[in-house]
Amino acid sequence: MFETNLERIRELAEQKQDQNFEFREHIKNCSIEPEEIDAIVRRLDAYVASKIDCRQCANCCRKLAAAVGRNDIERLARAEGLTPEQFERRYLEETDEPDRFLIKRKPCPFLEGKLCRHYHIRPESCEEFPFLHRPDFTTRSAMALWNLPCCPIVYNVYELLKQQVEELEMLRRDAKEEDLE
Ligand code: SF4
Ligand code: SF4
Repeated sequence: MFETNLERIRELAEQKQDQNFEFREHIKNCSIEPEEIDAIVRRLDAYVASKIDCRQCANCCRKLAAAVGRNDIERLARAEGLTPEQFERRYLEETDEPDRFLIKRKPCPFLEGKLCRHYHIRPESCEEFPFLHRPDFTTRSAMALWNLPCCPIVYNVYELLKQQVEELEMLRRDAKEEDLE
């Protein structure tokens, strides 16, 4: 039912790139309120995430550089038997934000097979990925489109969102026309 083949998702994301960018612009100005879009995305995210087993995927851990906050460093360093400074030097690179780093190697050095060896103490950004539960999807959708080619959850949520927005708009148009008759 869902597309979970990573190679196919990458290809489809490329084929649908223009359509997906157009849809992103469309939802910024359509008749559906941003809060309604957020509610739909959250519902779809919960539904799709319940059907996809991240332990069989781990593509984000392989392809993306995870963000690590200052709050994450101490517990990860302790688990690695390092001081925070040693941990930072060995595994992290700086970003423009003083308290935000990126894991500097891809795949992530903490990935063992398809599992995170620090799963229970993983960085907050890993716990929250792919961030679809966060508010203001319409203004943050660039991030979803960035993650879409590598994440089956984002890819399938976006596909369902396109369908549901179209259906909802059609229903509202029909209801408006009936009111005018
Ligand atoms: S820390 Fe764990 S969850 Fe985060 S990218 Fe690395 S392997 Fe994946
Ligand atoms: S969050 Fe997405 S890319 Fe990461 S493991 Fe789950 S399905 Fe795969």
